[in-house]
Amino acid sequence: MKETYDIIVIGGGPSGMMAAGRAGELGAHVLLLEKNDRLGKKLSITGGRRCNITNAEPDNRLFLDNFPESKQFLFSPFSQFNVESTFEFFEGRGLPLIVEDRKRAFPESEKAEDVCRVLSDYVEESGNVTVRLNTSFESFVVEGKTLMGVKTSGGTFMADKIIVATGGLAAPETGSTGEGLDSLAAIGHTIEAPDPSLAPLCTPTKWVHELTGTTVDDMTLRFIQEGKAKHKVRGRLLFTHFGISGPIVINSAHKVKALLKKGSVTASVDLFPDYDLGSLDTFFIELFELEKKRHLNNVLRDVLQKKLSESILRRQDLRFGDTPVHEITKDQRKLLVKTLKDLNFPITGTMGFEWSIVADGGVVPKEIDFKSMTSRLFPNLYLAGDVININRPSGGFSLQLCWTTGWIAGTHATSV
Ligand SMILES: Cc1cc2nc3c(=O)[nH]c(=O)nc-3n(C[C@H](O)[C@H](O)[C@H](O)COP(=O)(O)OP(=O)(O)OC[C@H]3O[C@@H](n4cnc5c(N)ncnc54)[C@H](O)[C@@H]3O)c2cc1C
Repeated sequence: MKETYDIIVIGGGPSGMMAAGRAGELGAHVLLLEKNDRLGKKLSITGGRRCNITNAEPDNRLFLDNFPESKQFLFSPFSQFNVESTFEFFEGRGLPLIVEDRKRAFPESEKAEDVCRVLSDYVEESGNVTVRLNTSFESFVVEGKTLMGVKTSGGTFMADKIIVATGGLAAPETGSTGEGLDSLAAIGHTIEAPDPSLAPLCTPTKWVHELTGTTVDDMTLRFIQEGKAKHKVRGRLLFTHFGISGPIVINSAHKVKALLKKGSVTASVDLFPDYDLGSLDTFFIELFELEKKRHLNNVLRDVLQKKLSESILRRQDLRFGDTPVHEITKDQRKLLVKTLKDLNFPITGTMGFEWSIVADGGVVPKEIDFKSMTSRLFPNLYLAGDVININRPSGGFSLQLCWTTGWIAGTHATSV
């Protein structure tokens, strides 16, 4: 006799744990399958291990403005479980949340592991959920047009309803390696090809790599194609050994990828975004007047990070760092100002899945009924979390989608 359940949830990440806990709470007999030896492996490394659990915008309309391509699908699920519900869920289970800049909410304890603990307690609390770790889902058992169960590395299990929460392809070392998407494709779902979406950007330019670890707290970054700035952002920039990173870069990756499909892209960094060329020149005239006895490399170090100012003064046309500033010519000063306003380098792509926070791709939204998270192809199949192709920014939006879609899948799989 094969083991039979009301509901099988595949994937023990945030969306799967939420779905399984909710279904168990409503009284369903649930099997939760996870191929790792623990639940929530990716969740435990989110937000630099602090877990940016949601984005604290209680107004559904304003929150969903961050999902320009899919907000029309999301109003219905967010009318059932939204940001306020997330606060109530976690705070009601003894995990107070704090809100930081850009409305990013974290557990007050600053520990992603605490979020995992609340969810695994939720999974266990009803006594209705059986968790099978180290068990890989392999394929669906299909009879005619009906899903009957799943084949796994630990045997075959049957169920009335199946919830797929196997994640996308970002950070594959945490378990999301794509078998869920392959199996959904095998039963006829359309899968948008996965591609790193929220990810750092790469350049082959050596001086950028050499600046690894250097952060600029406030600059403007423009992405230029055919001489025109196609996308512009302002904020913090981090240089890395392969290119550039930081929230504004990661959130630009989707747009930059689209530009790269059309042609080459150059990044241009403006280190003094509050000055135009003229006012920055005046700033340096006045600074050089005050510091006239000092050498340029020392003066520049007062206004820029050491590594960055050294890198700039190593450039072929700017090798006059050991000149006392009163000897700097007008042309040299203007060249320096122009460089500081336009440090440019080519962008060749995004870093791969192993570096990405979210990978584009997954089941296309039009094949899902978002009121209940049911597949439009199989009435007893439900989808939750990153398996669905929804483009979104960083800042807690991904996990909020997991809480919402997981809770709805668990609720509707139980009640229908
Ligand atoms: C480094 C990093 C930091 C992040 N930080 C944040 C953040 O602070 N805030 C935020 O909102 N988002 C963040 N994200 C994104 C967020 O983690 C994801 O959106 C979220 O984990 C998706 O949840 P999920 O349940 O859909 O999938 P996952 O978390 O990927 O979970 C899927 C689970 O399914 C299991 N699984 C897969 N295939 C099988 C199979 N064949 N059989 C059995 N089990 C299987 C996997 O092992 C995994 O445990 C971050 C992502 C990364 C990589």
